[in-house]
Amino acid sequence: MNTAPGAPVTAYVALGANLGDAPAALRQALNDLGTLPHTRLVRASSLYRSAPVDSSGPDYVNAVAELSTALGPYDLLAGLQGLEQAAGRDRPWRNAPRTLDLDILLYGELRQDDPVLTVPHPRMLERAFVLLPLAEIAPTVVSAAQLLKVEKQVISRLADR
Ligand code: AMP
Repeated sequence: MNTAPGAPVTAYVALGANLGDAPAALRQALNDLGTLPHTRLVRASSLYRSAPVDSSGPDYVNAVAELSTALGPYDLLAGLQGLEQAAGRDRPWRNAPRTLDLDILLYGELRQDDPVLTVPHPRMLERAFVLLPLAEIAPTVVSAAQLLKVEKQVISRLADR
């Protein structure tokens, strides 16, 4: 869905990986986000380590990025999906595991729910691995009450980005 770029909007994107060199995959993805057309990486959280939620396998490494983008929401989603695919193909050796998950948490004030895109992300308030890094870079976007609701989830700060 290609639409002409409009005025820049602040968008927050969640990053997660739990296979291969997950910190390296996230650092690469943070750099790549700033190379999307009409898009600037404004700030990025630290990297966090969290136990899988609704998933299994090794711990996840998570982060949140703030973007300023003139891409429309569907074009931004398509850009993120392109980065996910590129990360999956970027294998240092045959069958090396590598995953990257990129979700749009917030896109300006947009509220919408259709089969392709739901923002605000429907599960963001249930997940410490989203709310903690989001609160680090955008403290006014997350309330104390929201943080309290996820305080029992195991998550630790792993490293600077
Ligand atoms: P997953 O990669 O398993 O997290 O899910 C990707 C799917 O979720 C894609 O089909 C997207 O169209 C859909 N989706 C719906 N809302 C969002 C969102 N806010 N961010 C990213 N993907 C979304």
